[in-house]
Amino acid sequence: MTKELSNNITFDQVHTKKKQIKLKEMMSQIAERILNQTKNSESINCCPVCNSKNLVHFTEKFGFNLDKCSKCSHIFCNPMPSEEQLEIYYNSEMKEFENEFFEESFENRVPIFTKRIEKIKNYISSGKLLDVGSAIGIFIEALKRNASPFHITCCDPSVDACNKLKSRYPDIEIYTTLIENLNNPQAFDLVTMWDTIEHIRDPIALSESISEVLRDDGFWFFSTPNTSSFEWQIADTKHVQILPPGHINLFNLDSINVLLEKSGFKLVDYFTLNGSLDVSYVQKFLLENSSNSIGEFLQTQIYNEQFASGFSQLLSDCKLAGNIFVIAQKVR
Ligand SMILES: [Zn+2]
Repeated sequence: MTKELSNNITFDQVHTKKKQIKLKEMMSQIAERILNQTKNSESINCCPVCNSKNLVHFTEKFGFNLDKCSKCSHIFCNPMPSEEQLEIYYNSEMKEFENEFFEESFENRVPIFTKRIEKIKNYISSGKLLDVGSAIGIFIEALKRNASPFHITCCDPSVDACNKLKSRYPDIEIYTTLIENLNNPQAFDLVTMWDTIEHIRDPIALSESISEVLRDDGFWFFSTPNTSSFEWQIADTKHVQILPPGHINLFNLDSINVLLEKSGFKLVDYFTLNGSLDVSYVQKFLLENSSNSIGEFLQTQIYNEQFASGFSQLLSDCKLAGNIFVIAQKVR
């Protein structure tokens, strides 16, 4: 079995066993239902981020096709799921299941956000913070525990999520809506958005909405899976996070740069803070799959506890781990 990395968070801690077993089964059922009940939207002939027409087929998962842009390496669902399809997906038992496993791994996930809060404070130390897609509030909990200097507002389209947030944190402001409908120009000093952009059909429109609610020079902090990372290079088309119609836009540093430039932001810095998640995921992955990219040496050494621990740190230091934390600033 996977060796635990001392003092480091592992894949099994944030993705509970129950989730890993049930997820695939549920996704197949829901995807099948969606594809049987609804009409697909039209395929597009260019990359949704950089507009290049140079696309290649990447893989198919749960009946959805994914393409890859040869110019910026962005991976995306093509055709994109329709709004009707997403409506069914996000109101299915899937959402409840997701919230349940987030609750189960709540405590294990708080430290991920503590690290991010430390970084945020290096750029901005007070002001009005808008958290987009707060869900069950793991980030809000981390802010509270770290005696956050920010005035906190949350924005989430789920009525259920907002009710729970309100009862847990009565002092925060809550908008039960999509950010696109917020209509609150220049109201915030910083926006945070964790693992959300990969779910959005039009990421450029979303980024523009974020720019709109930020003051001039305001900061946008977000995270998303990073396909140019170690774990993605090893698992490639078999990566566990290829989850359409949930994950429909999968970014890398190049496509993030294009996204920011197009929507009025500049990239200030980025980090991949959890190399231990890559190492524990790849350890697991190699027990059940082969990989063309791993190499014989690494395939053996990755199970050596001391090597694994040092390698995890190296991935974080070189910014090559599987989840990217982006620091962007509004420039227009
Ligand atoms: Zn592209």
